[in-house]
Amino acid sequence: MVLSGKYRNRTLLKRIIYCLLLLFILLLFWGCAGGSSGSKKDAIQTKNVVIIVIDGPRYSETWGNTPGLIPNMSGEMKPQGGFLNNFYNDAYTYTNSGHAAITTGVNQPIDNYGDELPSNPSVFQYWLKSTGKPSTAAWIISSKDKLHILANTLDPEWQGKFMPSINAGINGPGTGYRADSLTTAKAKEIMQKHRPNLVLINFMEPDGFAHAGNWAYYLRGISRNDRYVKEIWDFLQNDPFYKDNTTLIITNDHGRHLDGVKEGWQEHGDNCAGCEKVSLLALGPDFKKANVVEPKYTLIDIAPTVAKLLGFEMDRNVYMPRIDTVVVPYNVDSAGIVLQKDSLKLQLFLDTAQMQGSPIRELFLENKLKFVDSNWN
Ligand SMILES: [Zn+2]
Ligand SMILES: [Zn+2]
Repeated sequence: MVLSGKYRNRTLLKRIIYCLLLLFILLLFWGCAGGSSGSKKDAIQTKNVVIIVIDGPRYSETWGNTPGLIPNMSGEMKPQGGFLNNFYNDAYTYTNSGHAAITTGVNQPIDNYGDELPSNPSVFQYWLKSTGKPSTAAWIISSKDKLHILANTLDPEWQGKFMPSINAGINGPGTGYRADSLTTAKAKEIMQKHRPNLVLINFMEPDGFAHAGNWAYYLRGISRNDRYVKEIWDFLQNDPFYKDNTTLIITNDHGRHLDGVKEGWQEHGDNCAGCEKVSLLALGPDFKKANVVEPKYTLIDIAPTVAKLLGFEMDRNVYMPRIDTVVVPYNVDSAGIVLQKDSLKLQLFLDTAQMQGSPIRELFLENKLKFVDSNWN
């Protein structure tokens, strides 16, 4: 009886020790899981970035009069992200320059007919180089055919390398502008098929119809673009690949002249307040919600922000084409970067400069700022 009692006690003790051990191991696992999910939450969660550029609407017809023509963006989407109250293109207010500022982080004058490449590599090239991914991991999907220039650069170190895929215009460069509804459908098709991590979409209707002098269609373009933006955001949030890990940035390349400045709303290209004032709305897992950012930012701050979201470094030393770019006879030798054009050489003088933009840190959640502020002064 005594022996069996001792035996029972020992078994009980063993069981208690086993239970305590098990509890200890469980607590250890729980602690680890809790710890890792905590640090995961603090890390940047964006895996994909989509930039939509609505080409050339004037602030007075968009964010200056809400809900007005943009009920989806101003009503439904703005509370889900950050809106920049003071956002500008304060440099060259036309399409190719504005887009190049967005993709390279550098303001530069550039031919507006699609005959000149940006002087610096783009976020697409940085992204593809840093990840080693194929060209289908980054896309330019554009209503304007001339924006194929955004895929490449004049920088000799980068030219022809790490180029993104292009779907532009009716059927590629030189084939004319395409309706924004078709660009929206194409964008969704490409994202479904290729699962790119970095996409730029250009919508052209506000700009195209304004140049044509058609006020009603200019307004219709803005209103349609507001719907297409919402359509793409809904697509991203309903697609398992993009849901909750994709940042959407909606902006403009330029505005249009104020009434009374030159041709008014029909044209743009100078530094009047109407041409310079643009907008930026940004939604994503690393950004604050219902957040209005007051400090001034400009188009060149988008690329550094994308670099932070996708975790690549950009070279702060950049090329800046001189405004005195000249056409010289073909037989004249040149030390600069040279493009052959018929019997003439277009000689571009590229000076070196420092990148001026910086990440838009006010968009980010407080616990992400250590990633935003590291290695960027
Ligand atoms: Zn235009
Ligand atoms: Zn103007």
